[in-house]
Formats: sequence, structure tokens, C-alpha cells
Amino acid sequence: MRKITVAKGDGIGPEIMDATLGILLAAGAKIEIEEIEVGEKVYLAGNTAGIASESWETIRRNKIFLKAPITTPQGGGYKSLNVTTRKFLGLYSNVRPCKSLHPFIKTKHPIMDLVIIRENEEDLYAGIEHQQTDEVVQCLKLISRPGCGKIVRYAFEYAKQQNRKKVTCFTKDNIMKQTDGLFHRVFDEIAKEYPDIENEHWIIDIGAAKMADTPEAFDVIVMPNLYGDVLSDVAAQITGSVGLAGSANIGEECSMFEAIHGSAPRRAGQNLANPSGLLQGAIMMLNHIGETEAAEKIQNAWLKTLEDGIHTYDVFEEGSSKQKVGTKEFAQAVIENLGQKPSILKPVSYSNNLALNLPKYKKRPPAKKKLVGVDIFVHWNGVDPDEIGENLKKIGKNGIELTMITNRGIKVWPDGFSETFCTDHWRCRFKRTNGSEITKQNINELLKYAIDENIDTIKTENLYEFDGVQAYSMGQGQ
Ligand code: NAD
Repeated sequence: MRKITVAKGDGIGPEIMDATLGILLAAGAKIEIEEIEVGEKVYLAGNTAGIASESWETIRRNKIFLKAPITTPQGGGYKSLNVTTRKFLGLYSNVRPCKSLHPFIKTKHPIMDLVIIRENEEDLYAGIEHQQTDEVVQCLKLISRPGCGKIVRYAFEYAKQQNRKKVTCFTKDNIMKQTDGLFHRVFDEIAKEYPDIENEHWIIDIGAAKMADTPEAFDVIVMPNLYGDVLSDVAAQITGSVGLAGSANIGEECSMFEAIHGSAPRRAGQNLANPSGLLQGAIMMLNHIGETEAAEKIQNAWLKTLEDGIHTYDVFEEGSSKQKVGTKEFAQAVIENLGQKPSILKPVSYSNNLALNLPKYKKRPPAKKKLVGVDIFVHWNGVDPDEIGENLKKIGKNGIELTMITNRGIKVWPDGFSETFCTDHWRCRFKRTNGSEITKQNINELLKYAIDENIDTIKTENLYEFDGVQAYSMGQGQ
């Protein structure tokens, strides 16, 4: 018996979890359930994390977590438990298979069968946000080499295990040259280690359009966190319903399995929701823990049930569906089909779906790092870039001078355009005239001179070269 932690969640959560567990147990899955309470009730009882510390202990002890969707209350102060769980437990890989079940589930894309592998810990989800001026707020987008390395390797190993032919990478590295650029570079490096698997890169905007229009062009798609969040909902929805797709969140120690959709509060308590998304997550869990036989049995029974036209409201189609059922009745139909296989849809056989065993990330030797300048961010309510330029020039001393000012990334000094709209948030770049190294002491002095001149500095970013390569962006128009 494998002990698993279960949380029934909020909204439609308890109904779809009861349905899912009923199917798992009827299929003879050798699991023992330890239930914890997370989500809305816990939040509203005053715990802003939505989970008690004893529950963390249970999750960490059992290592396998099956979680129904939860509602994050609106308003400040409440942190999304989903994001917290993924990051606390190091669940770096989010695997979301999206497959059409034509002709039984109505879809415009009858031969779609793709898997989105979403990086799960980094990107704009670091949740590091600040208001810096009256007019400007910022969110830090953090992308790391280990983060990229782990997710890209996972995608290729997954493709290899599942006999998939191609791994595609989506980024926006034509704009975000450092962050998305790193993701793309690491993808290209790791792809070389898998010569038998085709690889390609698409800029996310046209890639997303192609995926929504011609999903059969893709097989495995790996991408940073935010893009993966958005596009996996799109991919699930175009197979027929967001209620059909499950998701595995995989870490080196622990793993969490869930539906990709949320708690759909408007559908709660009415025996309406489709339990398929959570069931698909649970099947990935069974495969992950070696309960292959139960996983196969349930998936085939589920396919047969859909093939029989027994459908919940979200996928029911007058004419092609046979019977519109509620959550409980759907689960009962799957249970009755256990041991049977679909006749038109392809039955599954999970000979090779065990948890992937990836090598631990190896740190690279540190590069030679050279401090070559500093960006000082300034809060200033004026409108004329030449005025702030003249002011800021005054603090450049000891061979260090103001070289550029941008506003929201656009160069406005020197030689800006009068048409460029300026906010109260100015990025002022200081470097040596000859491009040589500066020191931390130089930066401290710049900040001190700024105080002397009554300049409101709000933050600094150091400008580095790593192994002689410039490691910061230019101003747009520079
Ligand atoms: P949602 O996914 O909960 O629901 C959107 C719509 O999709 C629903 O109104 C419903 O029409 C449909 N739908 C979703 N699941 C379905 C199912 N199983 N069967 C049938 N129809 C289904 O998205 P939302 O309304 O944006 O979010 C509601 C709450 O869920 C929010 O509090 C959000 O924070 C939370 N949420 C939780 C998770 C999670 O726990 N992993 C993920 C996303 C959203």
C-alpha cells in the first residue's frame, strides 16, 4: 500500500475528488489515503498560506499529493497555495498532456495529441513585486540556468520515454534576450544530447497561434512558467474542454497531481462537474508510483465511457452524446467499465510510464565577472528628459559618467524623441568613458552624490560582463 496525501479542495473539488477516489479504489489501486484540509476554509480561518504546518508534514512524509482545485480568496494578503506548494516542494516540472478524443468529444482539432511541459518555479511567478514610484510598479522575472536545465532535460527525457518525436521550445527571446534568451540557449545546448529527437524553437506569439490553429504540428512543447500556464489552458480547451486535462507537478523528492482547471465555484455542489481532469491527474500519479495496471485499467474504462457517449454537461453534444450525466453517475459508469477497453479510440498500454529519474543538476564553474557600470533608477515627476539628464550628469565623477536615460526601456536621453511618453520612473546608466571596470565603492559614491543633489534614487542594478560577454540589455533605440 502506498500512502498518498489527498486534499479535497474547494468549489467542485470535493465532488470530483470523491468521484476520482471512488474509481481508483474500485480499480484496485494499492493506495492508502491520508486527507488534509487546505484552501478557502483554512485561508478564511486566518492562515494566509491556506495550509497548516501539520499538513506540510503530511505532504512531505508521503511525498505523493493528489490535490483537488482550491479557491484563492480575492484581495491582498492571500498567497496562492498552488504556487507555494510547487515552489516549496521544488516541483519544477509541470506536465500537461492534451489529447483529442475525436469523434466522441467535439473538437475542431481531431488529431491533436500534445504535451505541454511547463517550468513551474521561476519566471514572473517569483512573486517579487514592488511599487517604485507613483506611476510604476515592477514584477521581477527570474530565470535561472539550473531552472532551464532541469525543465528542458525533463522535456527531452519525457519525449524519449514516451516515444515522442519532437520537442519544441516557446520563448519570446527576440524581446527578452537575457531571460528568455537563457531558456532558449539552454534548450539548444541540451537538445544536442538527444540527436534522435527533433527539436525546434518558436517565438511564443506565432507559436501559440500555430498551436491554437494547427496543434497537430506539435508533440512535446517546453516553455517558461507564465506561457505554459496560459497555453496549457488553451491546449486543454481546444481538445474539447478544460475539464478534461490533468497535470503532474514533478520534483526530485515530492510530486503533486491535479486537474488543470480551477475550483469552478459556480458549478459547485450541483453534481455537474466533469471529474475527468482530476482523474487524468490521478492516472499520472498511479503511473508515477508504479501502479501501472490500475492506471491502464482506469484509462481504458474512461475512454470506453466517453466512447459510449456518457458525458458530463461540459462535453455533452446533442446528437452525438448519448447520455448527459452528473459527476457521480459519470464516475459510476467508469467503474462499471473497469476491465473493458474502448473499441474505436486506441486503448492505452502503460509499459513505460514510471517516474523519470533525472541526473542531479551539476553547477558550472563560475564565470569571470566584471562590474562595468550601474543603472540607477530615479523617481522624478518632471517631463523633460534633458532636465533630468542635466541633473544626473552632475553626479557622474571620477571618470564615471551618465551615458543614457531610458523611460520604460526607451532611450529618452541623449537625443530622445519629443513624442515618447514619459512616466516618473527613469533608468539612468552610468559607466566609465573608456568602458573599464568600476567598483562597488564608485556606486556608493554615485548614490551619495545623488542624495546631495536631492535626487530620489529608488534602486540600482549592477551592469556586468560574464567571461567578457555583456550581460545586460541595451536601451531600446540606443
Ligand atoms: P476554473 O477553471 O475554476 O473555471 C472556469 C470555467 O471552466 C468554469 O466556470 C466551468 O465552466 C469550466 N470548468 C472548469 N472545470 C470544470 C469541470 N471539471 N467540469 C466542467 N466544467 C469545468 O477557473 P476560474 O473560474 O478562473 O477560477 C476559479 C477559482 O479556481 C479561483 O479561485 C482560482 O484561483 C482557482 N484556481 C485554482 C486552481 C488550482 O487549484 N490548481 C487552478 C486554477 C484556478
